[in-house]
Parts: sequence; structure tokens; C-alpha cells
Amino acid sequence: MSEEKHYSGFINIIGKPNVGKSTLLNAFVGEKMAIISHKPQTTRHRFFGIVSGDDFQLIFSDTPGLIMDPHYKMQEVMNDAALSVFEDADCVLFVIDPSNEYSGDEKVIQKLKNAECPKFLIVNKIDTAEQDHLKALEAEWRALVDFDQVHHISAKEGLGIPYLLEQIRALIPEGPAYYPKDQISNKSTRFFISEIVREKILHLYQQEIPYSAEVIIEEFNETEKRGAPFVIIKAVIFVMRKTQKGIMIGHQGSMIKKLGIESRKDIEKFLDCRVHLELFIKVKEKWRDDDRLLKSFGYLQ
Ligand code: GDP
Ligand code: MG
Repeated sequence: MSEEKHYSGFINIIGKPNVGKSTLLNAFVGEKMAIISHKPQTTRHRFFGIVSGDDFQLIFSDTPGLIMDPHYKMQEVMNDAALSVFEDADCVLFVIDPSNEYSGDEKVIQKLKNAECPKFLIVNKIDTAEQDHLKALEAEWRALVDFDQVHHISAKEGLGIPYLLEQIRALIPEGPAYYPKDQISNKSTRFFISEIVREKILHLYQQEIPYSAEVIIEEFNETEKRGAPFVIIKAVIFVMRKTQKGIMIGHQGSMIKKLGIESRKDIEKFLDCRVHLELFIKVKEKWRDDDRLLKSFGYLQ
């Protein structure tokens, strides 16, 4: 009698902010999971995207980008999360962006060198650069770290993704399915909804506002309206200063109204039903330095 074999592995995606880690995670999972934005540091939490087949399960983790010079407690916590990915990985994907010059991330290079699992160099955004430049960049990195494989991809255009997935699948060890086969992430619906609101904040507001804001879903009630599913959501946005609260609300409430409408549209798409969304803004000074608040926001375990 022969037993069917099953394979599973943890794959960690690492790289500087804005190189395309979240976009790559989305491309793997095929859903809009991680929040993508042109502003760096939008992925603050570490979370998983899961790709399953009949005989395998790949668990990808997207990590906050590495910050070279941490200023806040929050940034230190983010760095710890980013570097801890080397500890439990079956494969590491180190993502680079052709528009970045090599900037001597010694700590990261050392970690990559010492990593015992297979490590891939992922040259992303190949749609934005010339072949010659990509080749030169690859050579530069190969001289620094002994990568097991190098892939040139475009996460945004979906170039090279199926082949890369196939290569990862081929090297993961035998193991069980850690999550149900139909699950695509370890994060809850509430988390995704708060990320949608946060993405809209990033697009609508300038400068420091997005980095000072945190979104908490306080209520999530599934009900019915005229025989169709209907969800009532209450979200609280914490900002650090009174002046920021004013900016968020805008002249005669114009900005918060816009934020509410745009967020609701995407939440309705995500939940596939009608939604009533209420937004509240509260001031909480210095939440980024406060252990207790960081914990309640999920940055600390
Ligand atoms: P992260 O900070 O590493 O998670 O980066 P994101 O995934 O948030 O991507 C940062 C920006 O790069 C976004 O504007 C993406 O749309 C863009 N981006 C990601 N992958 C590609 C790609 O393959 N080609 C191009 N042209 N842009 C990309
Ligand atoms: Mg990201």
C-alpha cells in the first residue's frame, strides 16, 4: 500500500520597503490581501498568505520592510519582526527593486549568508528596467551572497510567478497542511477591513497623517436588509494629535466623508454584500511609544 505524500513549507519574503513584497504575496495568493501603496512602510504587521494544492501547502509571510535607522519603538518592533523571518523558514525570497542602488544592508547580508534554508534572489519590477541593468544587478548581488536561485519577475504584471511558485513547491519538505485548504490567510476579516480603511487613508491624506493613524474595527455586525446580507461596521481611527483629527475630518467633514465612501465601496467588494460603515476619529497621543497600545494594536505579542 502506498500513502500519498504531502508537502508543506514556510516561505519568507524579505526586502527593503517598496520593493514589491506585498504585491508578490498578492500575486502568489491571487487575491488582494496585503495592502499595496506607493508609500513605503505600509505593511506593518507580519502576516501569512497561503497557497494550497491537493498535495502541498505553501505559507508565505510578508514582513515589514527593514528600517535602517529606527526612531520609534514601533520601528524597532518592525525590524525585529523583519529579521525574525530567518528563524523558521524553509525558503527565503530576498526581493530587490532595479531602481534601488545597493546600499550596504550589512545586517541583512549577514543574515542571508548564514541562513540554512534555500535563498532566492528575486529581481522584481523587470518591466521597469533594461536587461543589461538587470544582469549587472544580479551579478552584484551574486558576488555578495551565494543564492540558490535567481528569478527575474514582475509581481505587478504577473511575469515569472507560476514558474517561481513551481520551483518553491519542488523544494519544500514533506509535512502536513497547517491550515485548512480553503483558507488564504491567517488574518481575520476585521484585519482586512481595517487594512482597506488604512489604504484609503494613505491615498487621501498627505505627509505624516497616514503614519500617525491606526484603524481599529470596534463593531462588525452581520445582519439582513430586505432579505439580503448586510453588514454594519464601526471603525475607530486613532491619530496622535488634535490637529491631525481636524485634518482627517476636513472642511465641513468633506475628507472623512470621502474616506467613508471610498472605504465602504472596497469593503463591499471584499465582503460581497452591502455595508454600512461608521467612522470615528479619536486622539491618542504617542501611541507609537506605548507598549500597552502597541499590544492592543497587535504589534507586540
Ligand atoms: P513592499 O513595501 O515591498 O510591500 O512593496 P509593495 O508591494 O507595497 O509595492 C510598492 C510599489 O511598487 C507599489 O506601487 C507597487 O504597485 C509597485 N510594484 C510592485 N511590483 C511591481 C512590478 O513588478 N512592476 C512595477 N512597475 N511596479 C511594481
Ligand atoms: Mg508591503
